[in-house]
Amino acid sequence: MDFESYIRDIEDFPKKGITFKDITPLLNDTEALYSASIALCDFVCDEKIDKVVGVDSRGFIFAPLMALWLKAGFVPVRKKGKLPFTTISESFELEYGTDILEIHMDAIQKGEKVLVHDDVLATGGTAKAVCNLVEKLGGEVVQCNFLIQLTFLNGAEKLNGYDIKALLNY
Ligand code: 5GP
Repeated sequence: MDFESYIRDIEDFPKKGITFKDITPLLNDTEALYSASIALCDFVCDEKIDKVVGVDSRGFIFAPLMALWLKAGFVPVRKKGKLPFTTISESFELEYGTDILEIHMDAIQKGEKVLVHDDVLATGGTAKAVCNLVEKLGGEVVQCNFLIQLTFLNGAEKLNGYDIKALLNY
């Protein structure tokens, strides 16, 4: 399927000079939504996955769909202050300043096999922080998969050593 035709470029969003990849046309189309969720799962091949971790907030769209197909649990990683139970946290660098991500301390058990998912891999700071959270809880990151990888931002370098997959590479 030509997934690229369902991705819309939005100029100057959220800030001037940034071209934002808008995935909502893909979500809006029955066939594209279905096919993309299957294609993301196919990246994992036959590996048994215990938990699919989705990243706040667009990672919450496909991660639960994949969790259903893969017969795994779903774990949300959220921005600081959003999760109700006891959390562990990880801070990471943004272009200006830092951000903090959190996960529930009981979300992943030692030795569990984990698939990390977000919609877009840009500089890799977000995904690396998520991998750190998973590993702090004793989980094993089997793969990080994304709808879109912005290869020119070199996010893969930050995720050195991890299996990285994306449906679309720009
Ligand atoms: P990174 O930490 O890799 O620089 O940024 C990745 C995060 O920023 C992801 O959570 C992703 O949702 C968001 N992001 C960055 N650029 C884009 C974009 O062009 N389109 C979308 N949909 N999300 C983006």
